Amino acid sequence: MRHQVKKIKDNIFLLYGVPDECCIYLVCGSEAALVVDTGFGITDLKEDIEELTDLPYWVVNTHGHGDHSGGNIYFDTVYMSAAAEPDAADAVNLNRTKLSAGTMDLIEDRLKSAKYRPSFIDEGFEFDLGDRQVEVLEIPGHTSGCLAFLDKKDRAAFTGDCCVKSMDILMVVPQALTLSEYCESMKKLASRSADYDEILTGHDEEPMPASFVEDVVYCCEKILSGEWEGEDLELPPVFENTKAKRIAYKDFAIDYRQEKLV
Ligand SMILES: [Zn+2]
Repeated sequence: MRHQVKKIKDNIFLLYGVPDECCIYLVCGSEAALVVDTGFGITDLKEDIEELTDLPYWVVNTHGHGDHSGGNIYFDTVYMSAAAEPDAADAVNLNRTKLSAGTMDLIEDRLKSAKYRPSFIDEGFEFDLGDRQVEVLEIPGHTSGCLAFLDKKDRAAFTGDCCVKSMDILMVVPQALTLSEYCESMKKLASRSADYDEILTGHDEEPMPASFVEDVVYCCEKILSGEWEGEDLELPPVFENTKAKRIAYKDFAIDYRQEKLV
């Protein structure tokens, strides 16, 4: 199975079509390209990328969850935050709940022979694609190692799982920080909105308006002030603590833990 490809801007391609996998993006500049996230790793992503571009390219992870980093195994070097590396190294285990046993065996075999080298990047790092620079923003929250990538030329921000609409924003995963820390990161992302019109999220196949980030901040502030409280949510047994809260606002929802607000 190969990825389906959709051109979502002149220089940005979306690779998608594997169930439950993240959106994978390819940004092509005049001199170089950037691959944002690598999916589960079920198929050879390197082949897909090299069919789409002849440019030299870098590969980055928005964070280390296995649906975003499993395909790192096809590349020599993958750029990520240092805090994302333990999750990326454990991508197979993190995927175990989502994938069939047969697929797991396939990925595990590949992971054993994988030799990719993580290279760590942090706030302010820039990838020079020639006619555009893509800037790294640290946005810890969904995990401590979450990064956003800002393409000021295309006026787009790649935001991983920090803002998603087609699934709930998951502040209940074991790697999540407090809702307050997440809110601070979203405020920081919103403060850069002069540089982008759209966000390209980790799980929505259409770009979302920049105002989505402000809506998320508003929702978090209402929860943190005690004005709003979500409905009780029972998480699947794979979560050690299955008690959570879910709040829906406009067309998105946040799953969070009442005991992990601050
Ligand atoms: Zn995630």
